[in-house]
Amino acid sequence: MPTTLLHAGRLLTPTAEITDAGILIRDGVIEELGLREGMRLPAGAEEISASGKTAVPGFVDVHIHGAGGRDVMEGTADALQSVTKTVARHGTTSMVATTVTASPEDTMRSVEGIAHYISQQHETDDTRAEVLGIHFEGPFLSPARRGVHPAEWLKLPSSEMLEKLMQAAAGNAQILTIAPELLGAMPCIDAARNAGMVVAMGHTDATYEQARAAIAHGVHHAVHVYNAMRPFSHRDSGVIGAVLTSPEVSAELIADGVHVEEIAMKVLLQAKGPEHMILISDGISATGMPDGKYMLGKLEVTVAGGVCRNSEGKLAGSTLTLDRALRNIVGLGVPLADAVRMLTLNPASLLGIEFKKGALRVGADADILLLDEGLQLTNVWVRGVALN
Ligand SMILES: [Zn+2]
Repeated sequence: MPTTLLHAGRLLTPTAEITDAGILIRDGVIEELGLREGMRLPAGAEEISASGKTAVPGFVDVHIHGAGGRDVMEGTADALQSVTKTVARHGTTSMVATTVTASPEDTMRSVEGIAHYISQQHETDDTRAEVLGIHFEGPFLSPARRGVHPAEWLKLPSSEMLEKLMQAAAGNAQILTIAPELLGAMPCIDAARNAGMVVAMGHTDATYEQARAAIAHGVHHAVHVYNAMRPFSHRDSGVIGAVLTSPEVSAELIADGVHVEEIAMKVLLQAKGPEHMILISDGISATGMPDGKYMLGKLEVTVAGGVCRNSEGKLAGSTLTLDRALRNIVGLGVPLADAVRMLTLNPASLLGIEFKKGALRVGADADILLLDEGLQLTNVWVRGVALN
């Protein structure tokens, strides 16, 4: 792998900004970073000049089901390669493969397949997003707020079932989404937290009190806030009231302008602040594909105008890519550095890997994007390898 010195007009770490910056990339990691004029070009290294561009960390997507016509539930190397290749073109350099609720057999098969893929994903040198682990969206979801997750396979939370999922994941279980009001949720939350998982509230009809009880048990993340949640009311603020007023809880947002209207996005952004927001795609197989019929798990989804719906007309994930999410959020008046943080440092911190992903810093993986003045993505490096 060639050693590269990237010379960017501006660099967002994202907690600091450097103008006329240099980033030295060697063996897939950032070896040195600072003002270009203070850096020496090592012998044999190639310099890339990008003076009109802004360098930012690669995006980290903690909630994504598929892309490029394929779904992570397929669990095959072929499917996961298509997904990861497609999203990398849109700046997602690492992601947490997210399941949908399915039969126990299908779920186990998918999870085992994803875990196997993760164990050998670096054996081929194609440039693709790295799969960091697995996010279980289901089966412990509320029937009342299931969205398009099939009702027949929803389950009450059970530590035994969670144990089986974690075993199938072979050390790759990262995030558990759970409806905390369900019978048996608290012991299940405790078990997931003890196993080191991030536990998130989602697809939930929880009251404010039920959500606060879950937070007291270590739930510190909320999945696609507003969507598939008990609605906020001024006399029943519910789970959304708890998310908005609990600083220990990070909030996911699908910033496609379809899932959540603009004012509601602003309310969430203002209540949580840039340090507790995480932008996700919730992308499905149709991402990066033309309108038509696609699968989300075993469910047929019709995509029209880029919006995914099931046969009842319910929203079924998105075709959002994170480069577009960045532009949408900046379009709401959020400063670029804050928007970048919501796509990089914050999701990496949620997973506890901020030393390696989600920030441009010495020793971190060289997952780097270049943006032009219109915030269009022009270049992507994944672990030091340029995407062509
Ligand atoms: Zn969902």
